[in-house]
Amino acid sequence: MEKKRVYTFGNGKAEGSADMRELLGGKGANLAEMNLVGVPVPPGFTITTEVCTEYYTLGRDAVQEHLTKEIENAIAGVESIMGTKFGSIDNPLLLSVRSGSRASMPGMMDTILNLGLNDEVVIGLAKKTGNERFSWDSYRRFIQMYGDVVLGLKPTTKTEIDPFEQIIEDVKAETGVTLDSDLTTNDLKELVKRFKEAIKSRTGKDFPTDPYEQLWGAIMAVFNSWMNERAIIYRRLEGIPEEWGTAVTVQAMVFGNMGETSATGVCFSRNSGTGENLFNGEYLVNAQGEDVVAGIRTPHEITKEGSIRRAKNEGISEEERKKNFLSLEETFPELYQQLFDIQHKLEQHYRDMQDMEFTIQEGKLWFLQTRNGKRTGKAMVKIAMDFLAEGLITEEEAIMRIEPNKLDELLHPVFNKEALKKAVAITKGLPASPGAATGKVVFFADDAATYSHNGDPVILVRLETSPEDLQGMTVSEGIVTARGGMTSHAAVVARGMGKCCITGCSEMVVNYEKRTFKVGDRTFHEGDFISINGFTGEVFEGKIETEAARLDEDLSKLLKLADSKARLKVRANADTPHDATTARDLGAVGIGLCRTEHMFFEEAKIKAMREMILAKDQEGRIKALAKILPFQKKDFYEIFKAMDGLPVTVRLLDPPLHEFVPHDIKSQKIMADDMGIDVEEVIERVGKLSEQNPMLGHRGCRLGNTFPEITHMQTVAIMSACCQLTKEGYTTLPEIMVPLVGILYEFKEQETVIRAAAEEVFKEYGVRIDYKVGTMIEIPRAALTANRIASSAEFFSFGTNDLTQMTFGYSRDDIASFLPTYLEKKILKVDPFQVLDQKGVGQLIKIATERGREIRPELKIGICGEHGGDPSSVKFCHRVGLNYVSCSPFRVPIARMAAAQAALEE
Ligand code: PEP
Ligand code: MG
Repeated sequence: MEKKRVYTFGNGKAEGSADMRELLGGKGANLAEMNLVGVPVPPGFTITTEVCTEYYTLGRDAVQEHLTKEIENAIAGVESIMGTKFGSIDNPLLLSVRSGSRASMPGMMDTILNLGLNDEVVIGLAKKTGNERFSWDSYRRFIQMYGDVVLGLKPTTKTEIDPFEQIIEDVKAETGVTLDSDLTTNDLKELVKRFKEAIKSRTGKDFPTDPYEQLWGAIMAVFNSWMNERAIIYRRLEGIPEEWGTAVTVQAMVFGNMGETSATGVCFSRNSGTGENLFNGEYLVNAQGEDVVAGIRTPHEITKEGSIRRAKNEGISEEERKKNFLSLEETFPELYQQLFDIQHKLEQHYRDMQDMEFTIQEGKLWFLQTRNGKRTGKAMVKIAMDFLAEGLITEEEAIMRIEPNKLDELLHPVFNKEALKKAVAITKGLPASPGAATGKVVFFADDAATYSHNGDPVILVRLETSPEDLQGMTVSEGIVTARGGMTSHAAVVARGMGKCCITGCSEMVVNYEKRTFKVGDRTFHEGDFISINGFTGEVFEGKIETEAARLDEDLSKLLKLADSKARLKVRANADTPHDATTARDLGAVGIGLCRTEHMFFEEAKIKAMREMILAKDQEGRIKALAKILPFQKKDFYEIFKAMDGLPVTVRLLDPPLHEFVPHDIKSQKIMADDMGIDVEEVIERVGKLSEQNPMLGHRGCRLGNTFPEITHMQTVAIMSACCQLTKEGYTTLPEIMVPLVGILYEFKEQETVIRAAAEEVFKEYGVRIDYKVGTMIEIPRAALTANRIASSAEFFSFGTNDLTQMTFGYSRDDIASFLPTYLEKKILKVDPFQVLDQKGVGQLIKIATERGREIRPELKIGICGEHGGDPSSVKFCHRVGLNYVSCSPFRVPIARMAAAQAALEE
């Protein structure tokens, strides 16, 4: 038997179905399925993807020969359903010809509409429809599309405008018309004439008048478009194999612009903004699909309820609404009922919210398309939970339908949508921490505190931030830095605080002296209002109204469900009792990283800290550390109390010491007075701390190994807080973490200091507590020698910020200078500080996990770099067999969702 190459559909019957995407492409399979569900779809047929492959191996003639019979039969079927005839003058059938690959390739290949028109058929169509303008407009659109796609009449240079558009512009100029929609029938006839002349003069061929010749040309052009440049590039980017080929779907045209009993519209089975179970949409009488989206005529609501609500919002009286803005439900009640029933049927069938396009042609309803509708984060959660409650989907499906990153929208303030429409953007940086914020520009942390004390919201604008700015960041609504990347200080700290932040705003020229920033020729001063969007990286001028977000009931339920499926645990990176409480509320089951350095920046602590750093000798350091101890102990006491019963990993001091000392002369003088020494001495000691590459310098465990008294003090602070809490009836599970270890002995030295200090405390309190001493794995050497390190370390936590920095050799603070170019040139697909590089850094994680567990099978392993909150990285951690991920408190729900999905994907 001859191979089947054409699959027909129409009138509730179809030779294909949804599961035949490979053969019929996404569009062909979906149209077949809609027919089977009983949805009125304009009839047609799909030529299989296999024919596309034949086209490239056997050539056009052989393919045409193979297809002729099947296509003639299929067209006869379409004709009988539509009651029209292809090529007939009195009663013509017009067709659309579209491509359709297995995977969606939006806009990559070509489409031809209104096929079948010629100089005679157009007259017949005008007579039949009584609408001459519509007929000629359809004809000129057809010639334009066919001329472009099939006959290849395109601009020859980058600067030349499309030849057809040029002709339209010429005719408009000659007739004084500005809008295409104002062109008269005669203008359209003129366009047809000139289009055909252009085709003849540029290609040497006449525009084909025979409908079958037109059809063959169009089918072959779609096959050709599989190999056009943009399709090839798109496939390469998306990893779509060339052998898949495209199908071609040929379908009867239906028109919503054939008079007052025709209409066209789009509709959604639920509200895509809120997720409410409310059918809604818009339509226009006597219009084409593109008119609804083009915004030239304002479409009307489909439901009566929607129409009344909208009129109220827009201040339109009921009388005027009834006159000018009637809903489809009121204008065409029977068709509305049909539309309502079908959308419900489709939603039940596809078991998801549907986004549908429909056309009413002379009183008959046709569905052109249905697909799973795009939705906001809020709607995504509500729809998944409602579908679960309605018994339409399983718990697993509800979880898998969530795009974890979209949960961000539900956890941070957002701009009021209407207000955002009027906003004027100034510049754009990296979206370092999500949320929306509005406030007055300030440039210094202490000014932020003053303004906020006076009740003014502020946005802190800096070249970059340092730990000294912490207090200022805490009181700010949001932070913008001209430099830095996704893991620079500002980004990491802001994410931890759940504050909106934009980094790497490279167009911004900050002038601290003048207290201004400039973008291009615009200058903004301290006190001017700006607004920032941490989801997109946009900076706007002026105030924009924001709306707060909260963890709603649906999301809480969904997350509980996710936890019941996940194996990977989710902890949080939290440095303050407030962050710890937030993290716990958002479902964190421990703290995976408590960065102790942030605790030193309050007034009293920073003084003692500076004294310690600038001390001449060990004796001086020990004296200063003794002043810090009670503060540290208090901080730990509060954090461990907030995390009662849950593990808390505390990391010993990590950053280079120069970050803690004053760099401006004014502060240096104050420091000298406080310490009772000359300012020159302060300047000299600060100078000694400066390094060429602080990130690779005297930091991490190198501090603890050169100044063991710091490690000793920190351990005493942690352990005494825990002992006191134990006596008060709390349960503490401390884990002390040594940063930046690369060599086993670096760790062992520190471990000895830690264990000795712990023993001292246990003796003093008369209490013993179980605790662990472990290390961060953030230096490639540590990953490669993990078997040695695990012989002493009781747990590992991957510090993937540093591990990424050191594996790529990219400074995490300077990546913004070349990242945009790298992304644009596709050298990098994503920012590796945001999304874990599984091929490189991931290999080190795998190696370290395997080697660590060879020695210590029960080794607890987590990750605490920023990647711990990125869904694809979380899934990778699951696959590698880590025990937990740790991320900023506000990313905890995202990580919980991703952890559940990872388990279900296994
Ligand atoms: C890391 O390097 O991944 C890490 C968590 O530590 P920090 O960002 O503080 O260097
Ligand atoms: Mg680190």
